[in-house]
Amino acid sequence: MKAPFIIDAHVHTGFMNGFFAEETDAASLVRRMDSLGIAVSVNLCDMISITRGPASGVPALIEDFEHSDGRIYYCGTFDPGRGTEDLRYLEKILGQPGFRGIKIHPPWHKVSADSHSYEPVWKFAADNDLVLVSHTWSYSSYNPAQALSLPGLFEGWIKKYPKTRFLMTHAGGRGDGHAQAVRLASDYENVYLDCAGDIYIPDLFVKLEKLADGGKIMFGSDWPMMDPRAHMSHIMLAGIPAGSKLKVLRTNAVNLYRLPV
Ligand SMILES: [Zn+2]
Repeated sequence: MKAPFIIDAHVHTGFMNGFFAEETDAASLVRRMDSLGIAVSVNLCDMISITRGPASGVPALIEDFEHSDGRIYYCGTFDPGRGTEDLRYLEKILGQPGFRGIKIHPPWHKVSADSHSYEPVWKFAADNDLVLVSHTWSYSSYNPAQALSLPGLFEGWIKKYPKTRFLMTHAGGRGDGHAQAVRLASDYENVYLDCAGDIYIPDLFVKLEKLADGGKIMFGSDWPMMDPRAHMSHIMLAGIPAGSKLKVLRTNAVNLYRLPV
C-alpha cells in the first residue's frame, strides 16, 4: 500500500486553553499528515466546544473539514451542565458529512461519568446512531478530577445502551484505569479504545493484539500536544502481524466512524 492510508482517530485543532502546543491550526495539521502518510484524522474537538459548547466551536471544525477536502472529520460536544442546549445544536448538524460523533469530558465538566445528567447524550447518540466518545483516565494524584472518568463508571451506560458505539479515549490512562478499559472493551461488543496521549506502556500493542484483531483499538495521537510518530512507531515496530498493525492504523477507525474512505 503506497498511498497514505493511516487514520489518526484522535487529534485536536484550535484554541488549546491551558495545554501547550505550537501548531494548532488545521493547515499545520494537514501539512503534518502529509509528511507522515496520514490520510485522514478525526478531530475530537477544540477547547472552545468543550468550554463554551458546540454552537461556539463546531462551525470552525466544519470549515476545517471543508478546507481540508474532507480529511479532518470532527465530533461535537455535550456538557451536562448545559443540559440539552448542546443537543439542540448537534441536532442541527446531523447529516453533515464531517460530523461523526459526540465527545464528553467528565473531568473538564466536573461531572462524574455515572451521573444521571449524561442520560440525554447517551439517548441522543443511540437515537441518531452516532459514536459516543469520552475522555477516560486513571486515578491521578496531581489531577484528582480524572477520577470522574474512571472507565468502570461507564459500565451502567454501556449496559443500558448496548448498541451505541462507545469509544474510551486514552484506553483508560494507566494502571487500574487502563485495566478497567481493557476489560470493558473485551466484555462488551460496542466498546472501543484509542491509544492517544502519553500512555507509553511497554508492548501495549502486543498485549492488546486480540482487541486489535477484533476491531477494538485504534491509533490516535492527541495532536498537537503529542507527536503522532510516537505511537505510529510503537505500532509499526510491535511484534504483531502486519494485518493486525493495519487494523490499528486504519481499518478499526474506518469501521468505528464509518468513514467513507
Ligand atoms: Zn485528546
